[in-house]
Amino acid sequence: MTHPDCIFCKILRSEIPAKFVAESDTVVAFSDVNPMAPTHILIVPKEHIASVNELDDKHKHLVGEMTILAKKLAAENHVDKSGFRLVMNTGAGAGQSVFHLHMHLLGGRAMSWPPG
Ligand code: 5GP
Ligand code: ZN
Repeated sequence: MTHPDCIFCKILRSEIPAKFVAESDTVVAFSDVNPMAPTHILIVPKEHIASVNELDDKHKHLVGEMTILAKKLAAENHVDKSGFRLVMNTGAGAGQSVFHLHMHLLGGRAMSWPPG
């Protein structure tokens, strides 16, 4: 199920180009167009889910798959040992700008805590 006006649904329908790095039946991963770190990949479910707020028990497997894919991509990009961050901004107040669920994989540079 895709959403007509959603930018990530448009990427999934190939209406907007993206640099895909992984695809399964349920999840894709592509490079962020405005990278915030040397490695910045978005892990995105094919189903249009607006945010973590819309997740429920039926999504348990999907969220697990997203996390395991992130781990594999961290290793492929050689940031597994140096350290990486997985982020799911939820709501405008937390910096979410695209309301289609996604996990950021960020790595390849030192990161501070707490986040801004
Ligand atoms: P959010 O701010 O919702 O957590 O993250 C949305 C991310 O999507 C941002 O990091 C932004 O750079 C990325 N983004 C927005 N539009 C596009 C696009 O058209 N293509 C790609 N590859 N990334 C996008
Ligand atoms: Zn969407």
